[in-house]
Amino acid sequence: MCYETLQTEDKIGTLIKYFNNNRNPAIVYCRSRVRTEQVTQQLKNAGLKCDFFHGGLSTDIKKEKLGDWISEKNLIMVATSAFGMGIDKSNVGTVVHLLLPESMEAFYQETGRAGRDGTTAKALLLLHPSDYDQLKNQFLCHLPDTEFIKKCFSNLCSYLQIPYGEGEGFEYQLNLKEFSSRYKLNTKKSFETFKILAREGVFELVQVYQNKTKVQMICSQNQALDTINQGGKTAVVVQYLMRTYEDVFNNEQWVKLDEISKRTGFSQSEILKIFNNLFQNKNIDLQIHNTDLELFWNVPREDQYTLNPFLNNIKEYNRIKVQKVQTMIDYASETERCKRNMILNYFGEKKRTKCKQCSSDSCRSEEPFPKELFQLIINLLKTGPKSAYEIYGSLPSKNEFIVLALQQLQENKTITQNDANQFYLNDEK
Ligand SMILES: [Zn+2]
Repeated sequence: MCYETLQTEDKIGTLIKYFNNNRNPAIVYCRSRVRTEQVTQQLKNAGLKCDFFHGGLSTDIKKEKLGDWISEKNLIMVATSAFGMGIDKSNVGTVVHLLLPESMEAFYQETGRAGRDGTTAKALLLLHPSDYDQLKNQFLCHLPDTEFIKKCFSNLCSYLQIPYGEGEGFEYQLNLKEFSSRYKLNTKKSFETFKILAREGVFELVQVYQNKTKVQMICSQNQALDTINQGGKTAVVVQYLMRTYEDVFNNEQWVKLDEISKRTGFSQSEILKIFNNLFQNKNIDLQIHNTDLELFWNVPREDQYTLNPFLNNIKEYNRIKVQKVQTMIDYASETERCKRNMILNYFGEKKRTKCKQCSSDSCRSEEPFPKELFQLIINLLKTGPKSAYEIYGSLPSKNEFIVLALQQLQENKTITQNDANQFYLNDEK
C-alpha cells in the first residue's frame, strides 16, 4: 500500500487529474451524504464514470449502485465511511479521503479496502490547511460531559413519556432538532449523548434518513384521470402513484420519495410540493412524519442505575477521543517520517525499513524530470490547441514538470501561445 498525503487548495481539481491518469476501481470517502452527491456531480462533469452511495438510499437503489460499481460500469464510488464493509472487491486500486478521518482505526480500515488482490494500491489523503480545525470542530466540540448526559437522559425520558421502571422492549421515534430545541440542548451534543447511550446498551439507535410519507388518493378514479389529462409534473406523479400502489385509492400507502424521484426525474422537494398541492385540492390525504431517529429501548428506565455504570468512564472516553483525533492530525501533518511506518507503529508493529513509496520526505527520492513529456505534449497538441489547464488534466506528470516542459518548448519555438492562452504546435499549418 502506498500512502500519499497531498496538500492542495483545490481538492476536486486534484482528484480529477488523478483519476484521469489512474483508471482503476476506486472509493472516495466523504463525511456527509450531501457531499457524496456534490462530489459525484463534479467528477461526472469532468467526464469521469462515478456514482455515490450512502445510508440514506433505499435497499434497491443501493443494490443497483453497488452492482454497477462491482461490474465496473462505474469505476469510482463516492461514499460515506460505511461503504465497503463486507464488500469483497479485490481490485480496488485507490482509496481517497477528501477529509481526515476521526481516528487511525477508521483510516486504516477504510484504506484497507484497496489492494486486496496484492497489487500495489494507493491510499490518497487530500488535505486543505483548514481541515485540522474542521476535524476538531466536528469531533471534539460536542463531546458531552456527565452533567449533560444526565440532563439529556432525563429530558429524553420525559419527552418520550417513559415512566420510571418501564420502557424496556418499546420502540420510540423522535425528531432530534425538535427534541433538543424543546429542552434548549445543543443538537450535536444531544446526538453524541444518544450515541453513548446506544453504545452502552440503553437502547438501539437507528437513524432514519428520509421523511416517511403516507399517501391515500381520496378523489375518484375519474378525477385522478382528469388530473393526469391536464399534463405537467403533477400528472406524472399521480400516474406514478396509481401504477405503483394498486391500493392507493382504498388505503394509506407508505411511499418512497427517493424511488419516485428516481423514476420521475423530479427532486424530492418538487414531489413534496406536488403532494402538498394535491392535498390542498383534496385529491389526496397526506401525512409526513419528520422522524429522524428510532430508539429501541433495551432496559427499564432506572435513572442513576441506568447511567451510573458508565458515567464514570465518560471523562476517560472523551480523553481518548481527543487523543485519537490528535493522532490523525499528527499523521497528516508529518512530512518527514514514513507514513506506512507511522500507521504500523500506532498498531504496535515496529518496522526497521522504510516503505520507499509513501509521500514522506524520507521515502520520496528526488523524482527525475520525465523526458518523454516533450513528446507527450506534442502528441496532445496534434489534436488541437489546449490550455495549460487542459494539458495538466490530460498528462500523468506533475504540474511543475509540465510547466517546465511548456517553457522549454516555447523557447525552442516548437509551440506558441495564442490570444486565448492556448498552446499550439508551430509546424501545424
Ligand atoms: Zn514510507
